Amino acid sequence: MEIDGNTLAARSLARFGVRHMFGVVGIPVTSLANRAVSLGIRFIAFHNEQSAGYAASAYGYLTGRPGVFLTVSGPGCVHGLAGLSNAAVNTWPAVMISGSCDQADAGRGDFQELDQIEATKPFSKLSVKATNISEIPSCVGRVLDWALSGRPGGCYLDLPTDVLHQKVSESHAERLLLEAEKNRNRIEPSVISNSKIEEAVSLLRHAERPLIVFGKGAAYARAEHALTKLVEATGIPFLPTPMGKGLLPDTHALAATAARSLAIGKCDVALVVGARLNWLLHFGEPPKWSKDVKFILVDVSEDEIELRKPHLGLVGDAKHVIEVLNKEIKDDPFCLGSTHPWVQAISNKAKENFAKMEVQLAKDVVPFNFLTPLRIIRDAIKALGSPAPIVVSEGANTMDVGRAVLVQTEPRTRLDAGTWGTMGVGLGYCIAAAVASPERLVVAVEGDSGFGFSAMEVETLVRYQLPVVVIVFNNGGVYGGDRRRPEERDGPHKDDPAPTDFVPNAGYHALIEAFGGKGYLVGTPDELKSALSESFSARKPAVVNVVIDPYAGSESGRMQHKN
Ligand code: ADP
Repeated sequence: MEIDGNTLAARSLARFGVRHMFGVVGIPVTSLANRAVSLGIRFIAFHNEQSAGYAASAYGYLTGRPGVFLTVSGPGCVHGLAGLSNAAVNTWPAVMISGSCDQADAGRGDFQELDQIEATKPFSKLSVKATNISEIPSCVGRVLDWALSGRPGGCYLDLPTDVLHQKVSESHAERLLLEAEKNRNRIEPSVISNSKIEEAVSLLRHAERPLIVFGKGAAYARAEHALTKLVEATGIPFLPTPMGKGLLPDTHALAATAARSLAIGKCDVALVVGARLNWLLHFGEPPKWSKDVKFILVDVSEDEIELRKPHLGLVGDAKHVIEVLNKEIKDDPFCLGSTHPWVQAISNKAKENFAKMEVQLAKDVVPFNFLTPLRIIRDAIKALGSPAPIVVSEGANTMDVGRAVLVQTEPRTRLDAGTWGTMGVGLGYCIAAAVASPERLVVAVEGDSGFGFSAMEVETLVRYQLPVVVIVFNNGGVYGGDRRRPEERDGPHKDDPAPTDFVPNAGYHALIEAFGGKGYLVGTPDELKSALSESFSARKPAVVNVVIDPYAGSESGRMQHKN
């Protein structure tokens, strides 16, 4: 018996632990997908490779296993670059596999021809081509391993049409698989020097205003228990980045989220775990941070530590490093205690800001602003208890205001536009979350603009009957409303809609109904409460179209200074 390259690729994926794949099938990879399914891999077929790639990247983050996605050659690969680049920038493990043209016809204008190795390189840790069927198992093993090793990221595997059609005997295929399995990289934990651990503990112990900041790298590392132990043993306030939210509950007494400016502006030692000092953390520089703050950075990437040049860098897996820190502290414990002036200052400020926000949230504003529906969504999510749903969020105001209002109590339950501020990730992330964490409901809170990038994937939700409720904040455009200055409204095309406009009162809820899903159109608090109560308990695909005042919120959300 002989098997072809498609079967060998599918077998390699199954043998090396891949349980889910995302993608769009077509020439030359349809039979690869079919064979994968027959080997027990769940294949989620999308409408667009971009969304499939976003899904794979989020799946990698949520599961700690590379998210694998499949595309056709040429344009399929180009669409998939969105997912690969998203994985690279967020440092999430993903593998893009694309079919490519026949090797003998490369360079002659073959069907969907592209030099896909070169195209993927800027976004990939490793781009490899199987030039012969015998290379398939080892190539599959390498991309899966590289995606996970060191700083996680995206890798690319190119499977030319001729290689997918080549054949080998069953026994030879088995030998190739065994050989590739033997050569797979086992990831060894890095060794951290004792003196660095002692120095980190000493810095924290002697700080007057210490702060622990953690991000999605710590979430990826599953550092929640170690971080909880550290925070509770030392009494040091903590600040999560948007996707770090939930590693410790937002409701924790030491949470500094509602006192963010004070916490980062006044801390004298900041232990930053799995979070980059990039734009999201104001580059760790004044005026947001004190010029004298001493950073202790924990990151799996030595390059990251080199780039930031912190006071002290600890290279290693976040969970491992924090566990070692905890051990060191246990021998000679210290704790700030709730009456410590720094802890009190943060706690008082947080309570004050929280109370101010609650006054605004308590109002029922109709037509809806952003706060009223977000409060209703927050309360409906809270009522679900544990396991908490995974919240997917994108959009300018919807995401910015939502981040402050929605409460995260469990790790890895928030997915948003991330490091790149990528809009259009929503539906792909919803699908990944539903597949990766079937025990959780998925609730997307999206602007209409973000939703529109990949709205056709609501059909995918319905096809696989995924428990996803997509709440669309519909303000009729990008940022909502025509906000142009009078001089911008002139010219020969002045009767066209504004570049930020969509059709007013769009029926997004009807989109999912076209495929047999459930749609809700809501404009009042009671309508929204009822739609959420019904759709959350049904755990079926639904779109809740929430009509928002087009002039609520601000252009570019919280990033106005950059527009
Ligand atoms: P956030 O957006 O939450 O601030 P970033 O994406 O900026 O987080 O930073 C995440 C960091 O975590 C990256 O620099 C990445 O190298 C690092 N990282 C990834 N995996 C691990 C891990 N297992 N342990 C420690 N750091 C990690």
